Amino acid sequence: MEENIWGEALSQFNRAANILKLDDQVVELLTNPKRIIQVSIPVRMDNGKIKVFQGFRVQFNDLRGPTKGGIRYHPNVTLDEVKALSFWMTWKNVVADVPFGGAKGGVICNPKEFSQGELERLSRGYIEAMHKFIGAEKDIPAPDVYTNPQVMAWMVDEYHRIEGHNVFGMITGKPLELGGSQGRAEATAQGGIYVLEEAIKKIGVKKPLIAIQGFGNAGKIVARLLSKSGFKIVAVSDSKTGIYKQDGLDVERVIAHKEKTKSLQGFKGVKEITNEELLELYVDILIPAALEGVITAKNVENIRAKIILELANGPVSAEARERLYAKGQVSIPDILANSGGVTVSYFEWVQNNMGYFWKEEEVLEKLKEKMVVAFDNVYSASKEFKVDLGTAAYIYAIKTMVKVLEYRGYIKR
Ligand code: NAD
Repeated sequence: MEENIWGEALSQFNRAANILKLDDQVVELLTNPKRIIQVSIPVRMDNGKIKVFQGFRVQFNDLRGPTKGGIRYHPNVTLDEVKALSFWMTWKNVVADVPFGGAKGGVICNPKEFSQGELERLSRGYIEAMHKFIGAEKDIPAPDVYTNPQVMAWMVDEYHRIEGHNVFGMITGKPLELGGSQGRAEATAQGGIYVLEEAIKKIGVKKPLIAIQGFGNAGKIVARLLSKSGFKIVAVSDSKTGIYKQDGLDVERVIAHKEKTKSLQGFKGVKEITNEELLELYVDILIPAALEGVITAKNVENIRAKIILELANGPVSAEARERLYAKGQVSIPDILANSGGVTVSYFEWVQNNMGYFWKEEEVLEKLKEKMVVAFDNVYSASKEFKVDLGTAAYIYAIKTMVKVLEYRGYIKR
């Protein structure tokens, strides 16, 4: 892992750029963000005092359509992180073949310490500060770490208040009652499972044991869907702890415990493990679904899973992906593995634009079709260039983007 996350994002891109012998001017065009917005958001806290939070939005590249990407609330948010995440969104949207550019937003805050009222005022404040720069044809946010459909609902309402009319397509991941799409809540996990199934067909692991890091929208739902399909989940974790049971966890009971106590701690009949131990377990499939930078040169030699499904953004460094590939393990890169989220966000935006909504089966069928094509494109590039799937995903996406640059007249055909 590079020292900083933006350096890491660039190093993933550069591996592919070097293989493609990309011209310097193309590298320059593709690695500089179009727009960086930083705002101060004053929020009246419940104690009556005003507290000012720093908010960011990076609109990296809009050459393929309006920019798109989630908003993260976390104490460790930095501009560098938001920039890297917006860069990854740019490439993910190419791999997923959705007509969007890449963006990301973030606020430095700890939402776990907020009341609902404080969370609402911060979310409305973010839109008040950013509304000129976002919109259904400009830049479309969505949920990310510690933001959810309720936060999206406050945001769409604030946009309504400022603009004087509803614009449901300005944000995705909304509740169903407020222009959301069937299947959006499960989309990231379900999309990941569709590509995992394709990978299993190629690699052929039988009766796999699975460990999952992170137990939020991505991690909890992937655990639920996989266990419903008969897979054995032996370990899961959240920010406080991990839990392990060799003969498989009862995932629904774990979810009920987490929902009741807000933590995995105290769940009976399991061994408590650390997040680091979870990553190094003897399992067949490992699903990092929390934060970035968890599998790097430092621990890659201890990673035993045959398949790593990168449901989080940036969990595996470029160096670690290469090393895993050399050891015969497969890391399905974030920009492919978690692209189900933005794909169903795209479906939500389409449905908002036409004012007509699809049934869940229709959404899932369309999602599967897109995920299988995306996997095939990346897998073929991996075979053609003899590289890991991460580098292959960038090769595929950069080649597509170069055509866009040519057609738009930035570079000669
Ligand atoms: P979330 O807020 O719903 O859940 C985050 C989970 O990570 C929580 O269970 C939390 O306890 C856990 N966590 C936080 N810090 C941790 C740590 N240090 N170690 C272990 N666990 C930790 O967020 P989410 O939406 O599930 O997002 C998780 C990852 O998936 C992020 O990288 C996000 O960018 C990515 N992702 C999410 C979506 C989506 O649709 N939600 C789409 C694409 C990618």
